Amino acid sequence: MTDRYAVFGNPIGHSKSPRIHALFAAQTGQDISYQAILADREGFAAAVSAFIAAPGGAARGANVTVPFKEEAFRLATRRTPRAEAAGAVNTLSFEADSIVGDNTDGAGLVRDLKHNLGCDPAGRRVLLLGAGGAARGVILPLLLENPAELVIANRTEETAARLALEFGRLPGCAVMVKPDGTGFPNLAGRAFDLIINATSAGLSDASLPLPASVFAPRCVAYEMVYGRNTPFMLQALASGARVADGLGMLVEQAAEAFFVWRAVRPRTASVLAALRPAS
Ligand code: NDP
Repeated sequence: MTDRYAVFGNPIGHSKSPRIHALFAAQTGQDISYQAILADREGFAAAVSAFIAAPGGAARGANVTVPFKEEAFRLATRRTPRAEAAGAVNTLSFEADSIVGDNTDGAGLVRDLKHNLGCDPAGRRVLLLGAGGAARGVILPLLLENPAELVIANRTEETAARLALEFGRLPGCAVMVKPDGTGFPNLAGRAFDLIINATSAGLSDASLPLPASVFAPRCVAYEMVYGRNTPFMLQALASGARVADGLGMLVEQAAEAFFVWRAVRPRTASVLAALRPAS
């Protein structure tokens, strides 16, 4: 019987996940189905239960996107350390007596940086913009890459300061650099080798008040939003930075989820190429 998977979100019509997982399954010869499910805003847990109970092959897992990642965290009966650190779950595995919650976003970002973009965070001065769910999900994976420093800057400075404090105290992570949390004005005069925009400002074409100094020579500027040239990307380009959008992260977090479910790691280059609109 074909194993069943799905992605839950609201909205969900735009999701590229069914296509990505269909391409992974074809490439690796895995017998799975993968559908997009629009869950009511108040009905996430019920939608997951209905999916598990539906006839056909066994429901083995699901991806979870906006706005349900925190609810998925609570729904999981067991969680991986990276999901615990993120405080959110984007990958569920349905086992006989448990629902395992994982978070593959940070691994996806790091893999895109290192393998697709040739940008290893190790030893780099890293600036993370934003302190929402996406930022929180990538902090631990970034710290584990041993950057020279990690500064979290956010419009609401206190949120960045709180995140930095929290991740500076993680048990068992004493060797990591401690992140610093700040507001945008305090970035004046500072320079970074890797800048990751995890704000949602680009979705509304809003600019970020970044001083030009932040883009060090040969800086890589990474925008988590994909499918548009955001003001952050345009500012970074004008400052001489190398710019990437978040499509690679999307594909890599999916590949990581596929690996969690199937113990087979799909190759991503051809999938990324298939999704990238011809320019
Ligand atoms: P949240 O709503 O949790 O957080 C939004 C963040 O953006 C906050 O830090 C907020 O600051 C900041 N922000 C919003 N508008 C502005 C603005 N105009 N100027 C400055 N800062 C602003 O969203 P998420 O963290 O879940 O998602 C952030 C982005 O990451 C989204 O655009 C999402 O599409 C993208 N993403 C991409 C992924 C991928 O695979 N490529 C995966 C996950 C997310 P404040 O605290 O001050 O409100």
